[in-house]
Amino acid sequence: MRKKVIAGNWKMNMLPNEAIEYIQTFEPMVKNSKAEVILCVPYTDLFYCIMNAQNTNIKIGAQNMHFAENGAYTGEVSGKMLKAIGVEYVIIGHSERRQYYNETDESVNKKIKSAFENDLKPIVCVGETLEQRESGETEKIITTQTKLALDGLSKEQVKNTIIAYEPIWAIGTGKTATSEDANNSIKAIRNEIKKIYGEDVSENVIIQYGGSVKSSNAKELFTTSDIDGGLVGGASLKPEEFSKIVNYDE
Ligand code: PEP
Repeated sequence: MRKKVIAGNWKMNMLPNEAIEYIQTFEPMVKNSKAEVILCVPYTDLFYCIMNAQNTNIKIGAQNMHFAENGAYTGEVSGKMLKAIGVEYVIIGHSERRQYYNETDESVNKKIKSAFENDLKPIVCVGETLEQRESGETEKIITTQTKLALDGLSKEQVKNTIIAYEPIWAIGTGKTATSEDANNSIKAIRNEIKKIYGEDVSENVIIQYGGSVKSSNAKELFTTSDIDGGLVGGASLKPEEFSKIVNYDE
């Protein structure tokens, strides 16, 4: 059976002192969780979070990385740099990066490959816009994004990729996909992976849902057949609220 993986995405929020205080409050609340618990934090919080989450069940991730190892890319951070300070996960291709920073399916694919070269676990975001949804293109968009993101990876690497299905119209809007809709979209992604990489990979790959997940809807979403947890933005900024999402099954 697949494990639930629940990741918070703090986006561009939290100063180091706030991050440390958060982890101290959050840790006792989630220490008995059966789910994998991840906090994806700003670069400036990474080291503080890693130090403060040592010897706990909380894993730390970044929210982006460059695909090159080093070089003349002013302002960028590489996978090698993240690994060197103990980062374990990295979000790749979040819709905000696709929308505001020209992230493409090609750059997403390069970043995923670089993440694996640096022994980081990628959390890869795919999702349709409202316009695409309304014109009946959801399945085509999300399966194509998935196929292009994973292009050239080995079966083992795909098994170790976390995919986050995040309908763009549901991110930060308070609108959530119904659990049935989200589960069907995730089934379509799993089916695409099955066609390319086989059933063993598709049955093991973790596929999360993201988009206005909160404590009041987490259980309904996470207890469907194919949703393996969530990527949580706004609701992960408060330790009490996020701990209720992590402990959705209590
Ligand atoms: C996200 O940032 O990935 C996200 C899903 O945000 P929110 O939970 O705030 O919709």
